[in-house]
Amino acid sequence: MKLSLVIPLYNEEKVFPSLRTELARFMQILGAQAEVEVILVNDGSRDETWSQIMAFAKADPRVKGVGLSRNFGHQIALYCGYRLATGDAIVSLDGDLQDPPEVILQLWEKWRQGADVVFAVRKQRHGESAFKLFTAHWFYKLMSRLADTEAPLDCGDFRLLSRRALDALLRMGDQQIYLRGMVGWIGYNTATVEYDRPARVAGETKFNLVKMIRFALDGIFSFSQFPLRLCLILCVAATVPFLYYLARAFYLKFTGSHDLVPGWTSLLLCIIAFGCINIVALAILGEYVGRIYDAVKQRPLYYVKDLTSPEVITAASQRKND
Ligand code: UDP
Ligand code: MG
Repeated sequence: MKLSLVIPLYNEEKVFPSLRTELARFMQILGAQAEVEVILVNDGSRDETWSQIMAFAKADPRVKGVGLSRNFGHQIALYCGYRLATGDAIVSLDGDLQDPPEVILQLWEKWRQGADVVFAVRKQRHGESAFKLFTAHWFYKLMSRLADTEAPLDCGDFRLLSRRALDALLRMGDQQIYLRGMVGWIGYNTATVEYDRPARVAGETKFNLVKMIRFALDGIFSFSQFPLRLCLILCVAATVPFLYYLARAFYLKFTGSHDLVPGWTSLLLCIIAFGCINIVALAILGEYVGRIYDAVKQRPLYYVKDLTSPEVITAASQRKND
């Protein structure tokens, strides 16, 4: 039995020493029960993260490091790590120790009981701004309503996947990587484990408002066609006042009581309403067209710049062939 841990890292030099200590301790605890491999993905950090990864990999052969050619974002860094993982069970977690390694033992236990996908659900979150908690809460609510896929509420990217679940995920071939949605889409036996999410050990969050919005839009537009349906609903809803004014105009015409000037406001409102609906509908269509355009270009999702040792890639490709 082999367990892979996949950890994306972006400018985490401040956290890395604690991460290293915690991982070493975790590997010692698990060492008796299973073989462990740790895959550290450097997502184009501009600080000392990569040299720290190299030092760790040099000291411990179970640690493998891969460096991307630039910052591609958390989801893609994680996806790269998933591709390189060779374990029978694969756990993805954040590098800032907000996903505590001891919870992995619970995930692992559920996997041994037959689960393919084990979500670590946050019971409580410490050290997050009220704004982040509020937006996250509503985002997950909205997603669970809109999305054509099922993902548990308030669940990040801390999860375990069995080998077959990960293989299924890697075969999806999505060009917009939104792992929470993708994991919900593949199905298989799922289970959950609850935990308290602690605050970051050091450093600061890499998700600013713009990144959060982009991430939310990726989630919505990759996994839901509701926005397209919304255009239709808006158009249908807008015909109601239109029909009302049409009927009223006919009525006034035939009863002979013209009120051209009093009708000015309603006319203007109609024009504005229809104008807005057109623009909104076009914008929503534009979002999908943009994503289709990205998908048809078929670009690689990322480039690898550094490896701590060439075996990182050969081990993964051998796994695919067997
Ligand atoms: N991360 C990454 N690339 C990015 C942003 C973040 O690899 O572009 C990593 C980061 O180093 C951390 C994990 O993703 O290990 C989660 O990021 P963060 O803690 O900033 O997110 P938050 O917990 O605030 O949602
Ligand atoms: Mg964090």
